[in-house]
Amino acid sequence: MQHTTAELLSVQRANGAGPAQAFPRPALRVVEPAREVDLVAAQEAAAAFLVALGVDLDIESLAATPTRMAHAYAEMFAPRPFDLTTFPNDARYDELIIARSIPLHSVCEHHLLPFVGVAHVGYLPGERILGLSKLARVVELFARRPQVQERLTQQVADWLLEQVAPRGVGVVVEAEHLCMTMRGVRAQGGTTVTSALHGQLRQDAASRAEFFALIAPHQQPDVDQGRAAQPRCNADNPLSQDKAYS
Ligand code: ZN
Repeated sequence: MQHTTAELLSVQRANGAGPAQAFPRPALRVVEPAREVDLVAAQEAAAAFLVALGVDLDIESLAATPTRMAHAYAEMFAPRPFDLTTFPNDARYDELIIARSIPLHSVCEHHLLPFVGVAHVGYLPGERILGLSKLARVVELFARRPQVQERLTQQVADWLLEQVAPRGVGVVVEAEHLCMTMRGVRAQGGTTVTSALHGQLRQDAASRAEFFALIAPHQQPDVDQGRAAQPRCNADNPLSQDKAYS
């Protein structure tokens, strides 16, 4: 169950807890710094851009395209605010917590074309654990802006390290870049894989191997038998190889 900031503050007051030992803590509201968005200027610029490329905006179906373009890019560059809800790790859980295949949509800052794929985000908890849905929100926080995949991967890992202070963090992003598949080399179906590791996942080979084994593709659940297949580590999968990740 997610708590709002107000709920957590009221719990804190009811317990008479001071800020130094306040459990649960108030959630940290995560918002992007305010940006100046001038939609009218963006619409005018989009119209000029399309006309310069020879697109006829007098065609009825294209007349509102500059407006739609401006709104679409404004939305793609605006992550939704969220509350970073953390909980005390009362059970002293010390194994990996992983969110696999989080859908990822971002925009390549070199061509302003989308890149789409998945992110696998895991951590080894320390004193606090994170609301599971927040891992997806952290990915969105850094995806909704002009980006390069390498930086996005690193930023998600760095942010989790700073905010949650886990014993280790691992982030792997697999994405297809439309600037590679629609133009240029036209590498259809080509996927770019990036990874960022911190702490124990970077320093300890066994922890690192476990992380890559857990995010490797799994067998489909055996519906007939009513049980899930065991995780499978694919030795040929580059993700499961022990390499120097950055
Ligand atoms: Zn690009």
